[in-house]
Amino acid sequence: MKNKIYKYDFLIIGAGLIGALAALALVKKKFTVLVIDKKNSINKDKRTLAVNANSVDFLKKLGVWNKLKIKPQPINKIVIQDNYNTQDLVFENDKETMGNVIFNKDMHKIAIDKLEKLKILVSGINFDIRDVLPNKKLIINKKNYIFKKVVVSVGKNIISDKNHSSVIFDQQHHSYVGFFKHSLSHKNIAYEFFTHEGPLAILPSPNHDKKTSTFIYSSKEKTNKSKIQKLIFEKISESHGKLTFDSFIYKYPITPHILKNNKNYIYIGDSLKSIHPVAGQGWNLGVKDIQTLCNLLDQYSIESKNFNSAYYSRRIIESVIYLSFTSVLNYLYENKSSLNTQIIKLGFNSLVNLKFIRDLFIKQAMGRSNLTD
Ligand SMILES: Cc1cc2nc3c(=O)[nH]c(=O)nc-3n(C[C@H](O)[C@H](O)[C@H](O)COP(=O)(O)OP(=O)(O)OC[C@H]3O[C@@H](n4cnc5c(N)ncnc54)[C@H](O)[C@@H]3O)c2cc1C
Repeated sequence: MKNKIYKYDFLIIGAGLIGALAALALVKKKFTVLVIDKKNSINKDKRTLAVNANSVDFLKKLGVWNKLKIKPQPINKIVIQDNYNTQDLVFENDKETMGNVIFNKDMHKIAIDKLEKLKILVSGINFDIRDVLPNKKLIINKKNYIFKKVVVSVGKNIISDKNHSSVIFDQQHHSYVGFFKHSLSHKNIAYEFFTHEGPLAILPSPNHDKKTSTFIYSSKEKTNKSKIQKLIFEKISESHGKLTFDSFIYKYPITPHILKNNKNYIYIGDSLKSIHPVAGQGWNLGVKDIQTLCNLLDQYSIESKNFNSAYYSRRIIESVIYLSFTSVLNYLYENKSSLNTQIIKLGFNSLVNLKFIRDLFIKQAMGRSNLTD
């Protein structure tokens, strides 16, 4: 028994918000999968996720959406304001809900519980990824394994791993996340305010009374709780009424990057790319990574030599577009110059006045269009 080798189709390294779901999607397609994570516990993240329409469909098919304990809060409208334009830019879609806000840890717990029930999650395993190669023996908890494919889903941690080469677009931003109650209903409207110090997003938070919201403020400037609260107060006290803030504000470093291809691995989620949260699309793009991976398995044999490069070439274009778009957007607002002002005004007014461009943006943000597949 000691020399027995367990042969699997996939090893997924990292059981975070994307790796855990990738495992469930591959199991659904009848592949054999093992997932390892260096941590022993479920994500204690207090953040919310704005889940777009495509990702809602994906979670429904996996049986995760309907198990959420806290009812998702729909986003029916997105209002964008900045310092240069007096008119609001409004994104609205009357055909379906644009997105839904859920708690990260609520969704993650459901996915992890499913992996544990399937007995395919091994926690507390921290390999040097260099030592994990496809079709090479690997010992996990004293058992011998061979995997046809190795999927890397270790999040942004990959950037600090010198064996994986990344292009980094660091704008020295940190994101500050918190929650507050308000006396008026948020009416399921999300807001994005572009300031010279950085973008502030206000999202309806999952709560039945529609009187709780979450904020994500990102900036490279030094800030503190009272400055952030003052900014939020200035922007939304008229629409949201009296505001009462939670005492904690959580701080997250932001290091947008894109990974160069490595033929031995399939990178998904924040390992492949991480983008600035201004667009609220990082995780949604990770879902598209999983969908592309699953679609390719219908076209290519898992043994195909071209599989990994076919996957990378399909995901790289959209990843680079989002990475560049979000980075350029922040750059333009943060660096005041007459050229930047003109570019901002032109872009903003085009979106305000031309419905077909707005509709393209809405479709893309909802995950209803595909830039590459
Ligand atoms: C403030 C903020 C707000 C955001 N809001 C949104 C939003 O509204 N909508 C959206 O779509 N996206 C959003 N995002 C992005 C989203 O949070 C990420 O894209 C998503 O969490 C990435 O998931 P992941 O599984 O790739 O990485 P993670 O969730 O970080 O998971 C990585 C996993 O790998 C494990 N791991 C690490 N190293 C190893 C190793 N060597 N071996 C084994 N395991 C390892 C870790 O323990 C962890 O479990 C936001 C991001 C930020 C910062």
